[in-house]
Amino acid sequence: MAHPSKALASAKPLNRAHRIPRTMKRDLMEILCCPVCKGDLTLTVDAEKEEILEGSLFCKACNHRYVIRDGIPDLLPPDFK
Ligand SMILES: [Zn+2]
Repeated sequence: MAHPSKALASAKPLNRAHRIPRTMKRDLMEILCCPVCKGDLTLTVDAEKEEILEGSLFCKACNHRYVIRDGIPDLLPPDFK
């Protein structure tokens, strides 16, 4: 038998701040930084719909470009490649 009170307790309110974004949107630029120097990244967009599909994030300090592919930013430091 179902317990309505239990179902209510498990229905948590949406907390967007704790959702980890899996695709690259422009909002992400506010939280993204260079994984090496934590500096600002410059966004270059090659293809965009509701989200950025293809492009790159460039760190001036490290002179390294992080590729965005299929809407997912590849933020592995250069040493890891
Ligand atoms: Zn950097």
